[in-house]
Amino acid sequence: MAIDSKDKYTFDDYRKFFHQILDENKLKKTSERFNILREIYETDGHFNADTLFKNLRRKKYTVSKTTIYNTLELLESFQLIVKHHFGYNFAQYEKYDNKQPHDHIVIEDTGELFEFKLKFPQNIIKAMEEKYNISITHHSLTLYAKKNNSYHHSPSIDTSDE
Ligand SMILES: [Zn+2]
Repeated sequence: MAIDSKDKYTFDDYRKFFHQILDENKLKKTSERFNILREIYETDGHFNADTLFKNLRRKKYTVSKTTIYNTLELLESFQLIVKHHFGYNFAQYEKYDNKQPHDHIVIEDTGELFEFKLKFPQNIIKAMEEKYNISITHHSLTLYAKKNNSYHHSPSIDTSDE
């Protein structure tokens, strides 16, 4: 199943995609799964399985971690969410957003995470497409850094390049 690129998905779009995804995988449309979907939709920025679990429990929803992991895997395979490994011992996720692609910097001393926007060099994309005869659909770039002496905290999203 291919999900159309669109500027901004509504929760209704998400529900529709999820219906299709569950059908294709012959999975039941349980309220547990849709509660997880809604929580993801309403979450801005990065999250992981554990923060999802805690937020849902706080809202008195009954969810199992297994269902959370399965749901994250499903949504990721259909590119509704993106999975990141930032060198922590757990995966981080965020919603896939066509209009707001960004990359990440991890400060290794502290685990701090910044997002930045920089136009990915098109000549690299073109060269790789030609070399391997592929069409690159998206990319993910993570820079790992150490603090310098004059380090100061930066805004979480640096858009100064744009
Ligand atoms: Zn991000």
